[in-house]
Amino acid sequence: MDIHRKLSILADAAKYDASCASSGTTKRDSGNGNGIGSTEGMGICHSYAPDGRCISLLKVLLTNACAFDCLYCVNRTSSNVPRARFTVPEIVKLTLDFYRRNYIEGLFLSSGIIRSADYTMEQVLLVAKTLRLDHGFKGYIHLKTIPDASEELITEAGLYADRLSINVELPSEASLSTLAPEKDARAIRRSMGRLRLKLDESEQDRKSRHKPRFAPAGQSTQMIVGADQTSDRSILDLSANLYGSYRLKRIYFSAFSPIPDASRKLPLIAPPLMREHRLYQADWLMRFYGFAVAEIAGGQDGMLPLDIDPKLAWALENRHRFPLDINRASREELLRVPGFGQKAVDRLIAARRHRSIRYEDLASLRVPLAKALPFIVTIDHRSSQVLDSETLRAKLSPQPRQLSLGF
Ligand code: SF4
Repeated sequence: MDIHRKLSILADAAKYDASCASSGTTKRDSGNGNGIGSTEGMGICHSYAPDGRCISLLKVLLTNACAFDCLYCVNRTSSNVPRARFTVPEIVKLTLDFYRRNYIEGLFLSSGIIRSADYTMEQVLLVAKTLRLDHGFKGYIHLKTIPDASEELITEAGLYADRLSINVELPSEASLSTLAPEKDARAIRRSMGRLRLKLDESEQDRKSRHKPRFAPAGQSTQMIVGADQTSDRSILDLSANLYGSYRLKRIYFSAFSPIPDASRKLPLIAPPLMREHRLYQADWLMRFYGFAVAEIAGGQDGMLPLDIDPKLAWALENRHRFPLDINRASREELLRVPGFGQKAVDRLIAARRHRSIRYEDLASLRVPLAKALPFIVTIDHRSSQVLDSETLRAKLSPQPRQLSLGF
């Protein structure tokens, strides 16, 4: 099989991994010869470097032939899909060629399980090691780690990779043993714990400047959403626990997508993509805006609303805490105003050190007002939208749009 065919199979097989994903943009493709570039082509995705830069990565699997039979995975051993496997020199060459042509700034490499966890990890590690040691590759490398692989291999991987990740896969142990019986939730946690220890040690070593850094971009994980009945509240509880216990940089949520010839244990339809989006918003609120899980997913069914974002939902449930005087409110309180982001709050706080903020100042401070207005007051403004109005939620919800008929 030629390398281009392998690339098309193995880049397509990697698209289900959300751990480095570019999504949410419009579909554009130059495959018909018009223009250049594509937002849909397989194999290149975007990720964020530790310094915040958006970088393009070659995102592929070493092989999509897998000894495991995880029911939710298109690469499972019983799946009827074309299989391919790169050799280590082939991936190294592809990465270097793409890098030299400026298509990519790094590599995201994962793999199905070949023979054993250790053998697979050795192959993945060899790619990173060859790139770094034989070719002096300085680009970004993200390696998906095989949880059951030996500690020595994972430790070595951290010397060559910028980021390591281990997928927790499903939000509950019970679901994991039903849908991925060969996976061991305890082994996954154990490996994440080891990575955390290595990251902590590396942090200490860095202070004394002794040793090369271990996975400087830290560790991340991915969770499939909607393949089981786990509620958003349980998913967010687990996320809070994972961030705290393993110092994760990021948890990626991947909405389950139905696969051909799927097991009856799986749902027939995918969860709404909006659910994935709301979970990311809630995750953000927990990490950067001081919200607790119970505040944003405290409803009886434990699900986040799909029609409005979780911060607006919280504000509507807690109207007694508003309106806030933006000239007096604390930073923590301002961060809870719907629509206010961290930068807008910082601009407000910097500006009010010099003078009281008036309504007309808000536009020049680039403070988003569409959702915020009913929840704030300035010295010269109080919203005409009454906070206790029963219609406020409807007014602030995105309006349903008529689908285009195409003429
Ligand atoms: S081990 Fe990974 S690649 Fe293999 S079937 Fe399970 S999820 Fe898919």
